[in-house]
Amino acid sequence: DDFERLVSRDLARSPNVRRLEATVEAVEDVPGGALVHLRDTGGRARVLSARWVLDSRPLGSLPAARTTLLQHFHGWFVRTARPAFDPAVVELMDFRTPQPAHGLSFGYVLPTGPCEALVEYTEFSRRTLAPDRYEAAVRHYADEVLRLGERRILATETGVIPMTDAPIARQTGASVFRIGAAGGATRPATGYTFAGLQRQTRAVADALRHGRRPLPPAAHPARSRVMDAVLLRALDSGRADGPDLFARLFTRVPMARLLRFLDGDTRLYEDLSIGLRTPVKPMLRSALELPRLPRRPFDPPPPTPPSAAPHLPPTETA
Ligand SMILES: Cc1cc2nc3c(=O)[nH]c(=O)nc-3n(C[C@H](O)[C@H](O)[C@H](O)COP(=O)(O)OP(=O)(O)OC[C@H]3O[C@@H](n4cnc5c(N)ncnc54)[C@H](O)[C@@H]3O)c2cc1C
Repeated sequence: DDFERLVSRDLARSPNVRRLEATVEAVEDVPGGALVHLRDTGGRARVLSARWVLDSRPLGSLPAARTTLLQHFHGWFVRTARPAFDPAVVELMDFRTPQPAHGLSFGYVLPTGPCEALVEYTEFSRRTLAPDRYEAAVRHYADEVLRLGERRILATETGVIPMTDAPIARQTGASVFRIGAAGGATRPATGYTFAGLQRQTRAVADALRHGRRPLPPAAHPARSRVMDAVLLRALDSGRADGPDLFARLFTRVPMARLLRFLDGDTRLYEDLSIGLRTPVKPMLRSALELPRLPRRPFDPPPPTPPSAAPHLPPTETA
């Protein structure tokens, strides 16, 4: 919300920007530009003509991939009765959560004050969970692992971010481009998207300023995508133990370098040194088998059914 407010304020000051709120029903590539078919807030159909269109609407379905995992999570914005958080410390991956049979799970703590934080339960796996299992998992993490004591839930957030090694098209017409999560800005191995999409928007702004075609660049270099494909395969096949793998990275790679790596902002020699900190055998086996694996359409399995005992942490069932 803060980020949106900041951008809205800047846009409102710009004499070159006009904001129009509407639902896009279709984007049509036409000679010399594109037509955007809209339905405005009053329900009226309108057509907008543009030289270029940058489309960030989420993809309707995921492209065929060798590996597709889902990063699915549920979090609470909590306020505790007593100080329970260090506002200077973020817990990115706390593996003291019960591990599912497939994939991995972790807790995430983003404090905004000594008594306030976003506390989240996250899984990387093939299928989402029934809503009561997320509630049970966050409750278990907040109460049994973090032992927050008396606390109040101020708000919640839930999300599912696809982690896919599929190539994602960034151009869908002569004047129509995809950008953001829809344009492949999500780092496959982490789900982080903000950094990648800001690299894309900066490049698009620069291209427009210089009168060039504003095709958003690939948000992550090809070698990061290859490394991520190997990592996703190693996790999905069960060959690599997720908590062990990430714990090795967090303990053996200098933090500043690792954070740049997670954002897709490292150089080749840094990537290689990070690769050597992972369990080499399962990663090598996954790398060798990747080229032989077919890309398959993603057919999401139904969510794990509701738990019979809703206060237990989740376990994956068939
Ligand atoms: C709960 C949650 C937390 C996240 N946290 C992080 C994080 O901490 N760090 C990180 O890097 N990434 C995070 N992500 C990933 C996140 O998706 C991206 O960082 C970011 O939101 C992607 O921005 P985007 O503009 O590409 O897509 P979106 O934010 O999904 O924007 C797409 C926009 O298109 C609009 N839209 C859809 N259909 C239409 C239509 N037909 N007509 C008009 N408009 C339409 C939607 O309303 C939306 O505003 C998170 C995702 C979720 C769901």
